[in-house]
Amino acid sequence: MKPYPLNMNAACIAETVKRLAREAGYADCGICSLEPFTEFERAIRDRIARFPETRALYEPMLNRADPRAGTPWARSAIVCIRRYGHYAAPEPLTGRIGRAYLFDRRCSVCPEHAMPKNLGRALKALGLRIRRGGLPDRWAAARAGVARFGRNGFAYARCGSWCNIETWLVDAELPPDKPSLDSPCPPDCRACIEACPTGALTEPYVMRMDRCVAWLTYFAPEPIAPELWNAMGEWIYGCDRCQEVCPLNKGQWESLKKADWLEAVASRLTPDALATMDDATYRTVVHPLFGYIPEDRADRWRRNARRALNAKSLSERTS
Ligand code: SF4
Ligand code: SF4
Repeated sequence: MKPYPLNMNAACIAETVKRLAREAGYADCGICSLEPFTEFERAIRDRIARFPETRALYEPMLNRADPRAGTPWARSAIVCIRRYGHYAAPEPLTGRIGRAYLFDRRCSVCPEHAMPKNLGRALKALGLRIRRGGLPDRWAAARAGVARFGRNGFAYARCGSWCNIETWLVDAELPPDKPSLDSPCPPDCRACIEACPTGALTEPYVMRMDRCVAWLTYFAPEPIAPELWNAMGEWIYGCDRCQEVCPLNKGQWESLKKADWLEAVASRLTPDALATMDDATYRTVVHPLFGYIPEDRADRWRRNARRALNAKSLSERTS
């Protein structure tokens, strides 16, 4: 085995890694081993068997079940929690664009955009060989003791579910943290399942990606089945319903920081503005915020915005 970097022992490296993660801005950090994630694999295969029409969505995930298959040098995983529940969401966007996408670190103007790059640099300076990603994130977070599964399928960290999980494979055998295997949910709670507008939560811990609004808004092939399209209501991208109703998230959103980069463009992201935006506005204002959505989806943004306007007017008429 390769000697530990800087002549530190494994425990000392693990502590240093966690300190570096905190310094990089992560809310939490744990370490896990890399045995194959057999329960994850079983869950994915079960999903495919029960809903064969979802095969194309789920099958590619199976290559994360055994992280060492493609990276035989890896010995441990570092799992970090990035909290985004400390931003004030601009009012016109609340309930229309899912918070995970509004405060997405992948967006180059998000202040936390460089967080993983900075931690990666620090890990390398420590002498570690690293590779980002390649793990089933939520399962790795549970194994590393930094999150637990809610019945809505989201990972709940100490800061609730308003968080992202980021992982690194490393070549040092580090002492793993205690897994968090128990459910955080009160025994009888089904609030998330009952609140899901499209029936994507078919039962506890089972979310059908092909029915979730986050998928339906930009990635699902069109046309969307009318019963799903109408159920998507005022959401233009993504959906927060199953997290908003969750008692585990009570008090976990703290509007401590202003999201300046969003405030600057919020008036151009309202349903009215999006429904009538021109292609130049889409290219220069909207697409840079959600760059992983293919650039040719301007019409889809307009259609989703028109649906949101219709849903709003319908609910105003019937209330
Ligand atoms: S994000 Fe929305 S659509 Fe998706 S499972 Fe949760 S409530 Fe249902
Ligand atoms: S709403 Fe209830 S059942 Fe769903 S994740 Fe939250 S606590 Fe669990």
